[in-house]
Amino acid sequence: MKFSNNGYYIERYIKCSNCGMLLYSDGLKSEIAPNEVFCSKWCIDWSSAKADGVEEPKIPFGHEKLHEIG
Ligand SMILES: [Zn+2]
Repeated sequence: MKFSNNGYYIERYIKCSNCGMLLYSDGLKSEIAPNEVFCSKWCIDWSSAKADGVEEPKIPFGHEKLHEIG
């Protein structure tokens, strides 16, 4: 979701390319998929594993919570 410069209205809605969560910032970019935007490192990892042909990627959460915005 992107607010207009004066902050009075929403210019456009941005959603995570992986999970579809609405983003309140510009989100995270990945060099693997330059035209996509993601909510978290986890979604980038998951998405790239999927692109590599992994049916059910198992990405450890580590210290990062899912949907945490960078
Ligand atoms: Zn996501």
